[in-house]
Amino acid sequence: MMRLPRFRYIVARTVAEAVTIKADAGPGGAYVAGGTDLYPNMKRRQQTPGVVVGLSRVPELSAMRFGSDGAFLGAGVLLSRVEREPRVRSAYPGLAHAVETISTPPLRNMGTLGGNVLLDTRCNYYDQNYEWRQAIDFCMKKDGTICWVAPASPRCLAVQSADSVPILIALGAAAVLASPAGERQIPVEELYRNDGIHYLTKTPDELLTGIRLPPPDGWRGSYRKLRRRGAFDFPVLSVGAAVRREGDRVAEARLVLGGVASAPLRLTASEAVLAGRPLDAGAIADAAAAATGPSRPMDNTDFSFLWRKEMTRNYVKAALTALL
Ligand SMILES: Cc1cc2nc3c(=O)[nH]c(=O)nc-3n(C[C@H](O)[C@H](O)[C@H](O)COP(=O)(O)OP(=O)(O)OC[C@H]3O[C@@H](n4cnc5c(N)ncnc54)[C@H](O)[C@@H]3O)c2cc1C
Ligand code: SF4
Repeated sequence: MMRLPRFRYIVARTVAEAVTIKADAGPGGAYVAGGTDLYPNMKRRQQTPGVVVGLSRVPELSAMRFGSDGAFLGAGVLLSRVEREPRVRSAYPGLAHAVETISTPPLRNMGTLGGNVLLDTRCNYYDQNYEWRQAIDFCMKKDGTICWVAPASPRCLAVQSADSVPILIALGAAAVLASPAGERQIPVEELYRNDGIHYLTKTPDELLTGIRLPPPDGWRGSYRKLRRRGAFDFPVLSVGAAVRREGDRVAEARLVLGGVASAPLRLTASEAVLAGRPLDAGAIADAAAAATGPSRPMDNTDFSFLWRKEMTRNYVKAALTALL
C-alpha cells in the first residue's frame, strides 16, 4: 500500500486566508481541493509539500453565478455539480459533456473544476510509484536529470491531460487568480506553457478562484476524447471545438487539441479553413485534414503515438460533426 508522506494540513476559510497561508508556507506549500490528483502524486512522492492548504471549506470557491454577462464557476465546484447543473447543460453543453467524461462518478464527486484545470501533466515514466521511478534512476520531471521519452530533449514532454481544458479554451473562458497582490483575470489559454514541468504560467502562490465563461452569443461547443476504455481513463487525444455561425456560414471557430503536448494546442490552420464557409461535410473534412500536421503526440501515454496522430483527423471531424 502506498502511504502519504507526513504533512501539515491547514484548513482555509476564505480566499484571503488561503493565499496568506500558502504564501507563508513558501515553496513547500500546496493547495488541495478534492485531492484526487494531489494525494496520489504525494503517495508516489512526485510532490511532497510540507504544508497543504485545504480549500474545500472556502465558500467563495463553491459559488456558481449565471447572468447576461455569462457564467462564473467557482474553482471549488465539484465536477459532478458542473455536469448536472441545468444552466451549464443548456448554455455550455460541450463543457457538461467534457466533465462527464472525467474518470468515474465517485471521483467526480470529490474532484473540482479548478483541480482539473490545474491538473499535473502526465507521462508513462512519471505516473509510477517511487520504487518504479527509482529503478529507472528517475527522470527530469522529478528527482532525475534525463527525459526517457526523448533523451536529447532539454525539457520535459509530459502531456496536458485535463478534459475540461480544451473545451474551456474553445469557449473563450477566462481564469480568475487571487494572490496577496490582488486579483487578475487571464484567458484560460494563457494559463499553460508547453513545458511538462513548469506547465502553468501562474505563480505557485496564485489561487484559482474560478472560471468565467462568456455568454454563448451564438457559440456552440463540443468535446471528443480518445481513451482505451469507455470510462475511467485520461484522454490521450482530445478535441474541444466551438463555432459561431452567422447565417449558414462559420463566422469564427476555435479548435483546441489536448493530450498531444504539455500545453493545449490551438489548431489555427483548421480554424482558418472553416472561416466564411458553411459548416458542411466538405468544410469539416478540410479542417480535420489541416489538424493532422500540427498534432505531434509523444510516445509517453497509452496507444502508439503515430496512431494517435492519425486519429487527430477523426476526432476533429467528430467534434465538428457534433455541431452540425
Ligand atoms: C483514477 C483516476 C482517474 C482520473 N481520470 C481523469 C480523467 O479522465 N480526466 C481528467 O481530466 N482527470 C482525471 N483524473 C484527475 C482528477 O481526478 C481530476 O482532474 C480532478 O478534477 C482534479 O480535481 P481535484 O479537486 O481533486 O484536484 P486536486 O488534487 O485537489 O488538485 C490538483 C492540482 O491543482 C492544485 N489546485 C487545486 N485547486 C486549486 C486552486 N483553486 N487554486 C490553485 N491550485 C489549485 C493542487 O495544488 C494540485 O496541484 C483522474 C484521477 C484519478 C485518480
Ligand atoms: S516526458 Fe520525459 S522528463 Fe517528462 S515525465 Fe516523461 S520521461 Fe520524465
